[in-house]
This record gives sequence, structure tokens and C-alpha cells, in this order.
Amino acid sequence: MIRKQILNDGNAFFINTLSCIADGVIIVDMNQKIMFLNSAAEGITGWSSKEAENQDFNIVFPLIDINTGEKIKSPIDNVVKLQKSIGLKKNSGLITKDNKKKYVSASSSPIIDDYGDFIGIVVVFRDITRIRSVELELINKEHSFKRLFDSVPVGVVILDESGVIYSINNSVSNFLNIKKTQVIGKTIGSGFCCKNSFDDERGCGFGEKCKECSLRQAISLAKKSDCGTNLEYNNKAIINSKEIELWLKLSVTPVYFGEKKFVVIVSTDIRDRKNKEMELRRAKEQAEAASKAKSEFLANMSHEIRTPLNGVVGMVDLTLLTDLNSEQKENLMTAKSCANSLLKVINDILDFSKMEAGKLVIESIDFDIKSLVEEIIKAHCSSAVAKGIELNYTLSSTIPQFLKGDPNRLKQVLNNLISNAIKFTEYGEISLNVKSIETNSEYVQLKFSVSDTGIGISEENIHTIFKSFSQVDSSSTRTVGGSGLGLAISKQLTEIMGGNLLVKSKLGKGSDFYFVLTFKIGKGLKVNSKHNFKVNEVTKNLNILLAEDDKLNQQVISRMIKERGYSIDIANNGEEAVSMYKSDKYDVILMDIQMPIMNGIEAAKIIKEKDKHIPIIAITAYALKGDREKFLSNGMDDYIPKPVKMDKLFTVIEAHTAFSKEEDLKNFNIRFGKNGEVGFFNDENKILNKEKPKVMEELSYAIDKLDRSLQEKQLVFIERLANKIKNLSNEINIDELKDISFKVELSARRGNLNEAVDYAKKVIEEFEILKKSILDI
Ligand code: ADP
Repeated sequence: MIRKQILNDGNAFFINTLSCIADGVIIVDMNQKIMFLNSAAEGITGWSSKEAENQDFNIVFPLIDINTGEKIKSPIDNVVKLQKSIGLKKNSGLITKDNKKKYVSASSSPIIDDYGDFIGIVVVFRDITRIRSVELELINKEHSFKRLFDSVPVGVVILDESGVIYSINNSVSNFLNIKKTQVIGKTIGSGFCCKNSFDDERGCGFGEKCKECSLRQAISLAKKSDCGTNLEYNNKAIINSKEIELWLKLSVTPVYFGEKKFVVIVSTDIRDRKNKEMELRRAKEQAEAASKAKSEFLANMSHEIRTPLNGVVGMVDLTLLTDLNSEQKENLMTAKSCANSLLKVINDILDFSKMEAGKLVIESIDFDIKSLVEEIIKAHCSSAVAKGIELNYTLSSTIPQFLKGDPNRLKQVLNNLISNAIKFTEYGEISLNVKSIETNSEYVQLKFSVSDTGIGISEENIHTIFKSFSQVDSSSTRTVGGSGLGLAISKQLTEIMGGNLLVKSKLGKGSDFYFVLTFKIGKGLKVNSKHNFKVNEVTKNLNILLAEDDKLNQQVISRMIKERGYSIDIANNGEEAVSMYKSDKYDVILMDIQMPIMNGIEAAKIIKEKDKHIPIIAITAYALKGDREKFLSNGMDDYIPKPVKMDKLFTVIEAHTAFSKEEDLKNFNIRFGKNGEVGFFNDENKILNKEKPKVMEELSYAIDKLDRSLQEKQLVFIERLANKIKNLSNEINIDELKDISFKVELSARRGNLNEAVDYAKKVIEEFEILKKSILDI
């Protein structure tokens, strides 16, 4: 009827208008038969106007629920029933003629004519497939974001612009064991029940501590500006009536969602890390305490080891003064050299522990560089000679004689380098060179180098040798000895003195260890630094008071002193020393430091109060914590380390007593030991007779010849020359030379070439030592 009306009326304008509308329009009559379908409806449904005409509406416009796929009742049924406009449900879809599904929205309305009669239904609909898919995509994205938000292993709290909690993720609620609803909508401190919020009845932000709250400051900065803050946050919260300590790493950042500004707080629990840090700190403190205990232990051990070693070295020295045959002497010299090696190891370990504890003190005193270099060379001469190696030194003539620095530490480094060079060299030569690099009126820069023609060090090992306890080849070192500490100590010492110990080396060719140090130019010294060798300055008959609790040490030191012709009284502790002290009775006091009842420092203080001029010499094995400086600052005049060596003992005593008796010189026969130490003999019969230079000349000639005949391996000549050397030695009372040359003679006579050569080398070595001794008297 409508169609008729439309057609009949010939209302082309009306039809054309409906055709132009972008939405689909279908008009059905009261029997739900299609009367009209505009072109948009044709496009959406797939039905042409012609095909659709008079078709049932439900055939052309079948609806389903897209989610379930079930048919939906036609909306126009209800329009007829209710006579009002009806829409479609959200997930409604249309099945097109070619069986495609499309999301549609539609509105179906009754058509009422001018007389108020219900004459048909108009359905206006739209394909919303594209809109729905964008919508779905957005929903999916939101779900994914929410899942992500809740599953990240860091806590996220979002605050709105007024600082109220807008959202928290699962990490936060799981971590604090709270429901999201407990906190959302509250301010941060009250939502999370910060302990400080209880300080003021107005809650979060009002208490005294709130003013300093770093989190509040970071939030307010983020609100005010676009600046984010990272902070470590430590505070207490009361959650579910339990107090818990929070250790969090927080990042507080302003974020815009659309027009709205939010503050996002991302938090990581760093409790474990903080606990570990605390554990590490505790472990470090414990390690430091252990290291301190180790240093103390080493100091005590040094005392315990040095005291008996003192006895050993002293007794050996004393026994060497008695009448011994050459074998006994040789044995004792070996024993002494062993004790000295042991002492070196103890000293190395002590130095090392001092350096580790940062307690090594470097001196700055005037010293004579030339004498220092000569002393070092002399000390190593005998061991170089023993190995048949040349030991040379050069010292630039432009170097000022007196420098200011630490002569003992410099000596320690050079001694270590030279003894290593001797240890690791079998043939050729070793040289110590001291070259001036730069000099001005105040300073001088010197390059020290110790080069050898020994086994050398491979490239791969060269970097490890300066590390503590490292030895290139532990098997070879086992044969030559060593602790692997020497170079580590030397390197550190040169560094403390302002230099750097370096090395150039070629395997099989040799090594060159060198360092550069700058010294202030020093002043001339009052005391000749050939001090160690000035045993010729024998003083008057001295009265000495020794304060020492150890019986063995008392015995050793008093025997040394008596041997020298001085008088000695013994005090068993500081108190006894104080009561035995009387003015003018003693010329010098030797004072042990660690003693029962009263220690040496206290006793020295009391005695110095009575007489400030009496020389008091500390004599102790106590070897840590800048001992020398400590003893000197405690009123001592000098310091002798244990084990006491005779030359050092008398050098120091005699340096502090005024008189000198040149005539006493005649009573002493001086000889160098294997390690360069000075020994002396006051047995009149054994005086080396210097009035017989001719004998020396002959001896020198015979020894030269012996050296040559060794290369020719002529046993007859060796025997004859050994006999000559024996007789010449006898003439000038050189027992060692006499005994060894006799051994050469016997071996040669027995036809044992190897043994003869070995003993002959000893003869040559002994003679070198002898020559040096004579030259130095
Ligand atoms: P040690 O007390 O064992 O000699 P050092 O620290 O003085 O310890 O030396 C470490 C190692 O460096 C030695 O064991 C040796 O392998 C190597 N070394 C040191 N000096 C020399 C040298 N002049 N020639 C060859 N190797 C050397």
C-alpha cells in the first residue's frame, strides 16, 4: 500500500532522497514484506532492490548474535507489538546475501499515516563492522595493558594530580598483602599506612617527619614539573597491624593520560640487596679486624722468632771467635747464613704485612749515596765471587754526594734486586748503575738499574713477578730459595718513594730492573756513613747497663760485650734498670722494650728525667708500626733490631760514646763474612800480618795460576799450586785458605779432578774475600 502510495504519488523526490542516504533504509508493509530498499541497504545486505521486493524482511535481513552465532528475533515484531522505535543489541550481526557477517546497528520505527494508522515499518541501519573491530582492538589493548600492569615484577602505583592513589598493580598488593580496594582513593601515606602518618592526627603529610619524606618531595616535584626522580626509600609501614620495614628503590615520574596528569611510582624491593650490603660491610669489618689481628700476630711472632734467632746468631758469632778448625768454622758460617736467610724471610713477611696495613713509614734523612752504593756492592761481593760472576757498579760523577731520602729502604730495594740477579745468573756479570737524569740546585733525579746476564724472564711471566708470593718457576726457586715477596715489596717501596720499579728481560739473555727516584739534595753528614765498617774506632773501656728479661739474650749480649772488653751489668726488667741506674756509673744503657713489671719505654723516661744525656739504645725484636720513629720519639737515642749483630751493636754503642782508642785497632783482625757482615778476631796470634805484602803478592800470583790450571784440568799443576798456597797462607795465619788449599792438594793427589776443582774454586773465593778485608782495613 505504501509502495503503491509512493509509486502512485510518483514522489520521485522522496525516493531519490532515501537513495542518497548513507545509512541503509528498508521499508516493510504490515505483513513484513519489503516494499523499499535504498542503495545503501543494497550494499550492506547484498540484495538488489528488485530481488528484495516483496521478500519477507527476515529473509533479506536475518540477524544473529555475533558472539554466539544464534539467531536474533526480528526487531520489527516488537515494533508492531509496541508501536514504538526499537534498536538492536550490541553484538547484533547481519548475514548478507553472500553469507558474510557484519556488525550492524539499526533502529526500526512504525510508519503512521496522516490519520494515525500504523501502515508500515522503516528500518534504518548501518554497517558498524569497522567501528566494532577498532573498538574490540582497543578493548584487547586495554586488557593486555592491564595484564602487563598486573604481571610486571615491579610495583606500580599511579597517583592522580591531587596525590590520591588511582591504581596499584598486583605486585604492590601481593608484596604488601593488601587488597587494591584498601588503598585506592586514599593519599599515599595513609593508603599504605606509613608509620610517620600516625605522628599527627591529621594523617599523611602533617607529621614532623613528613617534611623530610623523600617520597613526598619526589611526588610534589613530579606534580609541579615534568621532572622524574630516582631514590632509595627506607621507612616503616603498618600493614595488617604489622610493622614492616620497607627498603625500596623508587622511580617517581609524571605521566599524561590524555589531558590528565598522573604520577607513576615504580618500586623495586631492594631489601635483599641491602641485607647483602650489610653482610658485606660486616664481612669487611670482620676481615679488617682479622687483618689487624694478623698484623699483631705477626708482630708477636716476629718477637717470638727473633728472640731465639738472636740467641742462635749471637752464639754462632761467639763460637766463631773461639779456636775452631776450618770445618767447624765452615759449618758455623753455614748455620749463620741459614739464620740470616730465615731472618730475611721474617723481615720480608713483616714488611709485606706493614705495607698491607698501610703502616710502612718512609724516612727523609741525609745520606751519602756513594757510600750506600759501595756498601751494597761489598755486601754482595762474596756471593757473586762464590758463583764466579762479576759484580760491577757505576755512579755518575755528577751526582751530589749527599741526598735526602730513605737510605734503608733504597738499600733494601737494591739489595733485593742484586741478590735476585746473583740467584738467577750462572755466568757473566751483574751491574748496578746509578745515573743522574736531571739535577738542579735543590733536586736530583736518579735512575737506578740492576742488570744481569742470567736466565731472564719470558714475556708471559714478566707481569706476574711483581705480584706477591709469585715465582716464575717454583721448581727452580726451590733450588735457589725465596719467598716470592721480594719484588712485590721492592715495587711497593719504590712507589712509596715516588718511583716505579720496571723490568726489561729476555729469556736466556738476562734482565734489567730499573726505577727512577727524585731526591732532595742533602747536607754533609757528621758521622761517616762507612759506619758499618768502622770497627777500627774502638772506644774506651765502657760500662754498659743491659735491661733485658730474656736469659738467653742476656747471655748472648753480655758475652759479646765482654768479648769486646767492656763491662756489663744486667737488669731483669725496667724497674731494676731504674734502681740500678746511678749517674756517672754507666756510659750507655741497652734497653729491651717488652719487659715484665716495667717496660723499656717507661724505664727510659724515668732515667732520662734524672739524666737527659745518658744514651739509651732500644734493643728489641718488636718490628711493627714505624718502630724506629716510635722508639726515638719515646726518648731513646737509637735502635738496634734483634737478632743483634755484633757489628751493628758496637757501631751503635760506639757512635754514642765519645772516646776512640786507635791503638786498639792492632788487637783486631777483621774479616768479611759470607753475607758481607764484619767479624773480628782479637787473638794476637792470628793477626793478619800486613807487614808481609810480598807474601800477599806471591799468594795472589799462585791463585791466578791455579785459576788458569783449572781450565787446563792439569792435576799435577793443581796439586803443586795448592801446596804453595797452603804454605803461603800458613805464613800469614790465614787458616781458612790453608785448610781449603790442603783439601785441593789431597783431592788432586787422589786423582779426583771434580773435587779438586770444587775446592779450588773455594780457595779463589776465599782469597777474594780476604783481599777485600785487607783493602778495607
Ligand atoms: P723470590 O724471593 O722468590 O726471589 P722475588 O719477588 O724477589 O721472590 O722474585 C720473584 C720471581 O721473579 C723469582 O722467583 C724469579 O722467578 C723472578 N726473578 C726475579 N729476579 C729475577 C732475575 N734477575 N732474573 C730472572 N728471574 C728473576
